[in-house]
Amino acid sequence: MSSFQLALVGGFFSFASTGVGALLAPAMGSRKSSVASTHKALDFAIGVMLSSVAFSLLGPGLIQASHSAMLFSKVLLGGVLGAGFVLVLKKAFEASSLSFASREKQSPSKILLAAVLVLHGFPEGMGAGASMAGMSMSAALPLQLGLAAQNIVEGAILALCFVGFGWTWRKSIFGSVLSGLVEWLGAAVAGVGLMNSTALLSPLLAAAGGAMLVSVVLEIYEQTENRKQVSVKPFFAGLALIPLMNTLFA
Ligand SMILES: [Zn+2]
Repeated sequence: MSSFQLALVGGFFSFASTGVGALLAPAMGSRKSSVASTHKALDFAIGVMLSSVAFSLLGPGLIQASHSAMLFSKVLLGGVLGAGFVLVLKKAFEASSLSFASREKQSPSKILLAAVLVLHGFPEGMGAGASMAGMSMSAALPLQLGLAAQNIVEGAILALCFVGFGWTWRKSIFGSVLSGLVEWLGAAVAGVGLMNSTALLSPLLAAAGGAMLVSVVLEIYEQTENRKQVSVKPFFAGLALIPLMNTLFA
């Protein structure tokens, strides 16, 4: 398979796992304990994201590039661009979400959470595609699993967000499934990039890492507006996922 095709396969996993999460949302949302379980799931996803950033997306790239200032700055630039992408789009959404919020009587932070969940999928999808196309299978599979795990949670939470806006379940699930296309698109773009230069691998992975880091910060920020703390066990379970899988697949 060409690196473009491999990237599409990686992106498909992201799309499919987001869709699975969207379909699971009604089960999560209808239980009495849904608020607590949603928080736990989100904390797990945050742990997985940090784990992916540290052990797959950004950490190894920076260590590998540490012998060359040029390489190091390219990886760093990728990370900054990924982070900047999410921040700039979030800023752009802030104004429109405020007017939407006052019109629809919604909390602006919920709308922004939905926006972040959708938008960070683009660089994250780049990471999913790039890893499948450019990494060894033993390194790519743990990351794919990590991405899928947090996509399931994010797909479910996005659908629940939509339901919170007053959308029907059908429309909410469909909207969340569609959001997975953003990730697939990111994967396709990464595939095109890698076809032209394999040197793009580390910067592309770093871009996904930067986007994830910002999303984690924004999601934690969004959460702490509503409650006091992150639930420790799901968070550390998520954090341990990538090193655990790396050891298993090594
Ligand atoms: Zn994510």
